[in-house]
Amino acid sequence: MMNGQSCWCVRADDEFAACVDYVIRTFGRWSDLPTVCIPPSGMNRSAEREANRIALLYGQVEEIEHWRPQVELFVKPTAIVGIERSTFFGPTFLDMPDLPEPATKLEELISPEGFAKHCERRSETYAIVRADLIAAAFWFLTRYEEYVISTPETHDRFLASFSLAPPQMYDQPVVNRWFERLEALMSDLRGGDGASAVPPKGRIVLTHDVDLLRKYRGLMGVRRTISAMLRGDAQEATAEIRMASLVMAGLRRDPYDSFDNMFSLKEKLGAPSTFFFMGGGNAPLDADYSLDDQPVKELLAQIVARGDEIGLHPSYESYRDAPKMLKEMQALEKAVGHSVIGARQHYLRFAVPETWYIQGQCGLRYDTSLGFPDRAGFRCGWSGALRPFDVEKRLELPMIELPLVAMDISLAVYEKLPAEKAIERLAQLLNASQTRYGAFVLLWHNTLHDRRSYPGYWDTMEYFLFASAGTVDFATAAQACEELELRMVKTG
Ligand SMILES: [Zn+2]
Repeated sequence: MMNGQSCWCVRADDEFAACVDYVIRTFGRWSDLPTVCIPPSGMNRSAEREANRIALLYGQVEEIEHWRPQVELFVKPTAIVGIERSTFFGPTFLDMPDLPEPATKLEELISPEGFAKHCERRSETYAIVRADLIAAAFWFLTRYEEYVISTPETHDRFLASFSLAPPQMYDQPVVNRWFERLEALMSDLRGGDGASAVPPKGRIVLTHDVDLLRKYRGLMGVRRTISAMLRGDAQEATAEIRMASLVMAGLRRDPYDSFDNMFSLKEKLGAPSTFFFMGGGNAPLDADYSLDDQPVKELLAQIVARGDEIGLHPSYESYRDAPKMLKEMQALEKAVGHSVIGARQHYLRFAVPETWYIQGQCGLRYDTSLGFPDRAGFRCGWSGALRPFDVEKRLELPMIELPLVAMDISLAVYEKLPAEKAIERLAQLLNASQTRYGAFVLLWHNTLHDRRSYPGYWDTMEYFLFASAGTVDFATAAQACEELELRMVKTG
């Protein structure tokens, strides 16, 4: 936004400095603003004089007031924003999962009017935000509560329903919204320059996890039919048996065999996408294919030839198992014939931060698993790529996370939305995802083509993409992540 400018953050030089610096860096990468974080004692050493500095003072109000004259003297900023520090970064860190501020207050801070209520203008060029937005951003970006809360779940996942934040807070990228407010405040303090009035264009990152290629394969189909019978749904069971026999006799296409439909749709839209394939795994819920199967080889070749991206879909047990994931990664790279840089964990099973380390050890550069299985939305309070942070070791990881925003199954199975409601929800989330460098990461399974299980959903997806196509750009997951890597060269 603001050319030739930089952001100087003054904050205590305590054991939480790395946490604060991480949030400031994330803000800088998003706002294209190089950032420098210094302790109060470092102010008089801010040697190089640049013209366009914005100072951000993070402390208690008395500290901010105390630092301000020195900041003016040494840093010579064009604007000063104070952010009031709460007790979040303090003795109870990692003991308490709570949000740093009441949820209602944090929700208020999303809108310009609500933000103004908590912002004290102390002079033309100086204001204090009376809310700990640094800690609140940290809480969401790092998934802080997932380190503290351990609620049992069938697949060992952290669900939206476990979160201490109210569910509607995940309907938008709250951290981006707070950053937008901060940026507008900075621009206002500098006399209204800089901040771009052009709303950013939406961007859809279309992704597909390839779990199952056939609904009716040998006894698999029979098993599903039996379970329908056990549910007492005789009509459904009869229909399934009929369909299974037609498919197995080669008279009907298997409902999961939908790649050709997907390809032709993507062609019409001019939309690239990312396909995540499994490279192994022998848990009952893992893939029904092997990379050595001839149809899989042909599918991979087709995807590569089309210029789409291929990523790894690490198997059910891999999220805590580095040797397992590495084997799968090697198998996939061998089958594809080139290196693979991204992954999405099967079943969205992800241990924060352990799985990022494992993925990094396998040579992966990005992950795109962090969406809640049970609710679409912004699990990290963030739209677009970001660097994850290890809350225990207090360091930024050399990986990129591209949070998943909406999985088809979340809407159809967990939120139990009928297809016509799903389209509304997708449109709202796409709209909410729009921020600088934002990304609406959509997971669309080939199995959605099974109209019996997901009535109306395939058409909903097609309709949603066609209706959005005029106003958004499409990108692969790798493209969205590489864009962040390029930005980091500029802003650190
Ligand atoms: Zn999967």
